[in-house]
Amino acid sequence: MPEASAKSAPQKAMEKLGLLRDIDLALHLPLRYEDETRITPIAALHENEPAQVEGVVVDCQVELRSRRQLLVRVKDDTGTLLLRFLHFYPSQQKQMSAATRLRIRGEARIGFFGREMVHPVVKVVDEGTPLAQALTPVYPASAQLPQAYLRKAVASGLARADLRELLPPGVFQGLGLGGLPSLKEALHHLHHPPPDASLAALEDHSHPAWQRLKFEELLAQQLSQLQAQRERALLAAPALRAQPGGLHEKLLAALPFQLTTAQQRVAEEIAQDLARAQPMHRLLQGDVGSGKTVVAALAAAVAIDAGWQCALMAPTEILAEQHFRKLVQWLEPLGLKVAWLTGSVKGKARQAMLDAAASGAAQLVIGTHAVIEDKVRFARLGLAIIDEQHRFGVAQRLALRNKLKSMALEPHLLMMSATPIPRTLAMTYFADLDVSTIDELPPGRSPIVTKVFTESKRHDVLDKIRGAVADGAQVYWVCPLVEESEAIDLRNATETHAELSAALPGAQVGLLHGRMAAGEKAAVMAQFSAGQMSVLVATTVIEVGVDVPNASLMVIEHAERFGLAQLHQLRGRVGRGAKASVCVLIYSPPLSDTGKARLKAMAETTDGFEIARRDLDIRGPGEFMGSRQSGAELLRFADLQEDAPLLVAARALAPRLLDEHPEAARRQVARWLGTKAEFLKA
Ligand code: ADP
Ligand code: MG
Repeated sequence: MPEASAKSAPQKAMEKLGLLRDIDLALHLPLRYEDETRITPIAALHENEPAQVEGVVVDCQVELRSRRQLLVRVKDDTGTLLLRFLHFYPSQQKQMSAATRLRIRGEARIGFFGREMVHPVVKVVDEGTPLAQALTPVYPASAQLPQAYLRKAVASGLARADLRELLPPGVFQGLGLGGLPSLKEALHHLHHPPPDASLAALEDHSHPAWQRLKFEELLAQQLSQLQAQRERALLAAPALRAQPGGLHEKLLAALPFQLTTAQQRVAEEIAQDLARAQPMHRLLQGDVGSGKTVVAALAAAVAIDAGWQCALMAPTEILAEQHFRKLVQWLEPLGLKVAWLTGSVKGKARQAMLDAAASGAAQLVIGTHAVIEDKVRFARLGLAIIDEQHRFGVAQRLALRNKLKSMALEPHLLMMSATPIPRTLAMTYFADLDVSTIDELPPGRSPIVTKVFTESKRHDVLDKIRGAVADGAQVYWVCPLVEESEAIDLRNATETHAELSAALPGAQVGLLHGRMAAGEKAAVMAQFSAGQMSVLVATTVIEVGVDVPNASLMVIEHAERFGLAQLHQLRGRVGRGAKASVCVLIYSPPLSDTGKARLKAMAETTDGFEIARRDLDIRGPGEFMGSRQSGAELLRFADLQEDAPLLVAARALAPRLLDEHPEAARRQVARWLGTKAEFLKA
């Protein structure tokens, strides 16, 4: 691309699409193709099939009778074709004057007056103007980026790009992928397929050229993960060893419960990581309510006991606040200082927190995204814990890790999630992640029964709630939106709050939604936690992490509008105590197929792993991950389900290539990921 100080609109549009390097252009593949390699005789035109014909203009006139339009009749040796233009310029009329030879592309329709094309693409030619040698690529274009400009740019990018073979000869045979073309051949084929190419195989991506491309992409992705893993192993982190008789044992002794076997196991896995002088990069996964918080607290205790600070970051203020309360309750009696940092902590209080973090006086800092802001400095950050990690982006993880750069060390990183990662995803996006899994719930939990009702049964549900509240139950009532906005038919939380207050006289009904100030939210949560409130009408702000063990009933309205993972998270707010819990899902028909599948999954299982599997089935990996998770759309061509064999092959080849041909491996990653490679390291 030319280096110009003033960039043209198409150049800017290309930059926006990430089309910066020659290789980026070469990897920008057509959406579809047009066939300009052959001429169809007019008599052989089929209805509604794109085709190109060549003919001579018989006459060209503007018709005024029904509607002003330009009608051009052309003929070839086999018949005549009418071209109809409803919008046209005088210049077009001139261009298509009688006896002019035209090459015309469009879809014919066969009407009352014979064959015609409406608004075809027309080009003036001479007899014998050569035909295209290859199918014409059609790229996703826009007003700022015209097709012709993009075609030219891609063609020259393709010609200039360095597409040298990087893989040592013979690797494909060994992997059972013999017969694939080289990357260069594959790309030339995909941009300019020969006239006889199978359009079907190109379109469904089963063509060997596509296979090669997808393999290359998966290989680059596997290589960069492997590289990140090896680079991490070279980084230094403070070795944090649990001391006998130290904080961590004191915390265990002070807990009102015994750890489950699973909690003990994962706590041990984490302790072993912390004791190493390389940064931990571990995901702690466990279903909602499995008790991840206490495991995090134990890890914090180890880090603090070793003389380092710990940061705990949660995605919402409510959740951060809850962690804060719990950890203060557990850790302050042991003499620790816990600081609290969110967006709503302001002024002097904020400065005091910042000072405490920077001086090291605060041994544990808990908060929201505010914890990773540039202004926040730590004296000695040894361990960073991210709760509900899927709610954070890759850039945020990177920011946390960079908090210890000044000492040429990296903090240990513990991520927690209640959304388990299915295997195919674990093999790709999370290849560079150690995983600990809590696979049992604390004892004494009674299973949650889930019931699904249509909107018309809402009154019956209300009656049941009235009974339960009279018996002393605490209820969450979840509504999807706060105020009437684009979706007017959604019951809004304020309205529901008023309605429930009227329907449940004598009961305390609270309201919690995202637009309330942090202080108000905290006050409502505190009342509900303390059992002073029977019903909490809430939006999804309660989705993650809220922990009120006495709550045993949950109603979710418009359940069909929630994602499966979200429904499972919400449901996880009940079933936390000994009381038998019920989750009622109310939907308004008609249900879409995926809506049906989601509610069915909810009714059939409470197992988070099973829910995650079904969710991946329903949504596919792209949506399952979300763009925040992957940081950038890293897999453009390969499909994790369909291309599993290619993924397995790429996984097998990556370590060999990295060991035996490190330079080729480096180029492979640079070719595919360019600047995105950084993201994979987070
Ligand atoms: P999550 O994994 O969803 O974050 P929490 O850490 O919030 O779960 O734990 C859910 C509830 O279970 C909390 O009230 C917590 O104190 C309690 N809990 C955790 N571990 C145990 C245990 N081993 N025995 C009994 N209760 C436990
Ligand atoms: Mg939690």
